[in-house]
Amino acid sequence: MENPLIVANWKMNPQTTEEAKTIALSSDRKGVVICPPFAFIKSVKERVKKAEIGAQNCFSEKKGAFTGETSPVMLKKLGCRYVIIGHSERREYFGENNNLINKKIKVVLKEGLTPILCIGEMKKDTGGMDDIKEQLVEGVGDLQVKKIIIAYEPIFAIGTNLPCDVEEAEKKKVFIKNVLAKNYSKGEQAAVLYGGSVNSKNASSYIKKAGFQGLLVGGASLKIKEMKKIIENVYSL
Ligand code: PEP
Repeated sequence: MENPLIVANWKMNPQTTEEAKTIALSSDRKGVVICPPFAFIKSVKERVKKAEIGAQNCFSEKKGAFTGETSPVMLKKLGCRYVIIGHSERREYFGENNNLINKKIKVVLKEGLTPILCIGEMKKDTGGMDDIKEQLVEGVGDLQVKKIIIAYEPIFAIGTNLPCDVEEAEKKKVFIKNVLAKNYSKGEQAAVLYGGSVNSKNASSYIKKAGFQGLLVGGASLKIKEMKKIIENVYSL
């Protein structure tokens, strides 16, 4: 990945299509992946010219009697190129485990989409290396990791305004890269992003100082001015 990737995870926001289209325009730049709720994917795709579109989740099967689920085939037809898989909110509130996450990644790859696998320790100050390694190795399984983007998102930093220290994040990035290199052929080629309370003040340091290849931005990606600054800061490096 040459340029840093900035993935905007809107979560279950905003409330209307009009708002979604306005927010999307502020992120419409090459290198940005906008991940709106399913309901707004089509409108956002039609509105933007340079940004790519991603989904926040999908099901592990392509079709069938799975009420309420969304297939990666549908996402591809809507113009998505990326799918976030295994976000900590999915793990926590919807009971997603590494086995299901691996199945989802498999079906996403089969559809020619790029999965963004979220991993991260569950608690602060525990080291968290076991959580990270398990989520990474069980999530990827025997799939080709160079086709998967890894997003390191420590749970304590998500949606809390308590970003992970840049030095600490860098240590975790080095650990993840080592696990990738040891366990997978061409593992070192997988891109690793940072996510967790990213804002315009800290965004560039995760890339410049800690060496991440991009960012996963949640709350700040919905704030038009803030997101513009994040994009400006990252792409002027
Ligand atoms: C996220 O939703 O993945 C995230 C990192 O959220 P926030 O930026 O709000 O912490």
